[in-house]
Amino acid sequence: SDRLETVKSLIAAHPDFPKPGILFRDVFPVLRNAKALRMLIDLLCEHIKSTVASADIIVGLESRGFLFGPMVAEQLGIAFVPVRKAGKLPGKTVSVSYTLEYGTDKFEAQEDSVKKGQKVIILDDLLATGGTMKAAIELMEKLGAVVELCLVVIELDDLKGRNKLNRPFYSLIHY
Ligand code: 5GP
Repeated sequence: SDRLETVKSLIAAHPDFPKPGILFRDVFPVLRNAKALRMLIDLLCEHIKSTVASADIIVGLESRGFLFGPMVAEQLGIAFVPVRKAGKLPGKTVSVSYTLEYGTDKFEAQEDSVKKGQKVIILDDLLATGGTMKAAIELMEKLGAVVELCLVVIELDDLKGRNKLNRPFYSLIHY
């Protein structure tokens, strides 16, 4: 669609960032353009409305899932909940460890942020290997949530990250 092409045209590519050999896709230029940002949020919401019968919560992943998550949640009239790196969220938290290229990392959510049986949509800017999204699924299911959809703006197809998820998955833009 025209809207998708407009959004895609604003996504920048940075070779060798943050390290040699990585081609970093940057969504921030989309946020510099209010009309394009509105198109992106509308496209995400339209996909959700046409594929998910009902959802209670948009779960955004630190940190770029925090940009779009609250906007999508507000438009759908549902809650937003953040998932953050360990040690950033106050109160009782639940955590999962996950493996990165070098070493491990830990994701946390506030224990009272999701109730058993609630339907969640997990949102991030980009899916690469899928490790981050997989950890978020694990964390949400640990809290008793039902993961209705995993949603990203950009998918790096060659890395086949979606095969790790075994949950409904959708991406707007492919590279
Ligand atoms: P994965 O765990 O799927 O390998 O990596 C995805 C995570 O790393 C996401 O949270 C995403 O924000 C970040 N990420 C990895 N590569 C890129 C990239 O090229 N551009 C952006 N914007 N984020 C990336």
